[in-house]
Amino acid sequence: MATSWPISLDTIHGGATLFAERIAALTGDRFKITPRAAGEIAPPLEVLNVVSQGGVPCGHTAGYYYVGKSPAVAFGTSVPFGLNAQQQNAWLYEGGGLKKLQELYARKFGVIQFPCGNTGTQMGGWFRKEINSLSDLKGLKMRIPGLGGKVMGKLGVTVQTIPGSEIFSALQTGAIDAAEWVGPYNDLAFGLFRAAKYYYYPGWQEPGPTLECMINQSAYESLPDDLKVVVQQCCEAVNNHMLAEFSARNQQALKTLIDDHQVQLRRLPDTVLSTLNAAADEVLAEMAMRDPFTKRVYDSQRLFREQIRQWHGISEVAFYQARG
Ligand code: CA
Repeated sequence: MATSWPISLDTIHGGATLFAERIAALTGDRFKITPRAAGEIAPPLEVLNVVSQGGVPCGHTAGYYYVGKSPAVAFGTSVPFGLNAQQQNAWLYEGGGLKKLQELYARKFGVIQFPCGNTGTQMGGWFRKEINSLSDLKGLKMRIPGLGGKVMGKLGVTVQTIPGSEIFSALQTGAIDAAEWVGPYNDLAFGLFRAAKYYYYPGWQEPGPTLECMINQSAYESLPDDLKVVVQQCCEAVNNHMLAEFSARNQQALKTLIDDHQVQLRRLPDTVLSTLNAAADEVLAEMAMRDPFTKRVYDSQRLFREQIRQWHGISEVAFYQARG
């Protein structure tokens, strides 16, 4: 199994390890999968390619790394102001999202993919200066990859795409003014609080990113039926487990950041959030126009978001507000 992750990303690379361990345990070692760190058997952003070509039978990665091949794949991971983890799972498993995306992966890549991990809602990022208005964002140099970067670009931010491993030094030296990475647990591990004082929320750019297990379709079809079910069940187990792990570790790490490192938490101002929201609508609508299939996936997720917003408004959100 090729992965996009260094071993140091323990909660994420750990998803691939857990997947392999569960499969071995459930099959009495009849079926063994060996996860390899990023770069060992495939470059981190080439996992889909090598699995598609059959060079490696399976991989653990994130669909949105491959938007260059089809913009639709981004909806399988996370899009700005899209769905949170619970809603993304509902759309994928029960709202027709996974079925549509599997149709695309089969046709275009000869790959079948399953949700296999979720980080939960991320953070907005680390800023060296406070953001009080839209003008504070103009000309700001920020590390924010993917669609989030496109949206920030519309607000006048100079978007920098640099690998995770280089964020700390770029932020500390002032080469960049701001950076988003993941959330408290991973950001604490990178020491980002030493390079920037203000920690902004919410992570509008990645509200519930789903990671995926991608399997070469002929390799998958050659499995006996029971092992196909084992693969699917282990993906679901990891999808559930990683979110629990992130939620538990993030709340602990947030406490550490505040209590031990005096991190200043800030909510992005309403004007900034509403402008980002409108810019995200534009970016996604433009993306949906690029091909009919992306439009179908976009329409499906959009409709689902509208409907679940109403339901979760009177259930999850109302409950959070009532509980305080
Ligand atoms: Ca991120």
